[in-house]
Amino acid sequence: METILSLKNLDKKYGPVHAVNNLSFEIKKGNVYGILGPNGSGKSTTLGIILNVVNRTSGEFSWFNGNLSTHEALKKVGAIIERPNFYPYMTAAQNLKLVCKIKGVSQDNINEKLKTVNLYERRDSKFKTFSLGMKQRLAIASALLNNPEILILDEPTNGLDPQGIHEIRQIIKKIASNGTTILLASHLLDEVEKVCSHVVVIRKGVKLYEGRTDEITASHGFLDLNTKDQNEALIAILNEFDGVSSVKTELDGMLIATLNRNVSASEINKFLFDKNIVLTHLVKRKPSLEQQFLTLTNDK
Ligand code: ADP
Ligand code: MG
Repeated sequence: METILSLKNLDKKYGPVHAVNNLSFEIKKGNVYGILGPNGSGKSTTLGIILNVVNRTSGEFSWFNGNLSTHEALKKVGAIIERPNFYPYMTAAQNLKLVCKIKGVSQDNINEKLKTVNLYERRDSKFKTFSLGMKQRLAIASALLNNPEILILDEPTNGLDPQGIHEIRQIIKKIASNGTTILLASHLLDEVEKVCSHVVVIRKGVKLYEGRTDEITASHGFLDLNTKDQNEALIAILNEFDGVSSVKTELDGMLIATLNRNVSASEINKFLFDKNIVLTHLVKRKPSLEQQFLTLTNDK
């Protein structure tokens, strides 16, 4: 699969603040990537660096396998990293025409891009009459005017109402389904879970996880187990069981076994019963991305 962008050991310090810390990851064509992390974790700084508006302290990044200069490469990128800003007294269409002139791209795409973001019907309305969601959608249309290979969005739904959020997410999915690669930064798990095929989790500039979004949700999960008065024996047996990576005891006495392969409740129940352990409680749980995100981003 074609590599659109690769970051290698990227580092950024603002004085004592280590905003981006030895960050490496790759963006492959056709996927939707989320950089997920709490506020202040270095997402915007990372986007600023790859877009050449923030200077890196050290490390490398390369666009399109390094075959183009960054200046040339950025002509194939569409990005929104600031609040959308257009001329308030000009219409949506007039604003986009101006963007085409400034960027030196053809105006032939304007109507198509307005349709993509569901603003075609409002093309002759003045920008100042737009809701925040409409302004954001116009910004997306504007970023698409040069038919970019990749669209980069920083917190695309910040400040929007639920309807506006839903609409932006639908539009992002539509753009992705047409083959445009997407990289978005978000502090919202839910957003990344709903929109992104791949995720890079960062905290304090450090990468904690990189992979497919559905792989995080599909980790093997946990078993909650209890017995009447055999828990000590149960712990010993569980520790021997192939499929359990660790066992811990909760305050209420419940045992939590972490699984490292797909173990069904019936398999473990039969195994334990054969060893004369009678369970009073057995529940299999899968952690949500949210739980895992909290685990990943907790202070360690
Ligand atoms: P995020 O987008 O994940 O919220 P940022 O990249 O904006 O995180 O910020 C990462 C860290 O760098 C934060 O601690 C922030 O305060 C700091 N930071 C960001 N921009 C600057 C700047 N221009 N000068 C000094 N510190 C900055
Ligand atoms: Mg940010």
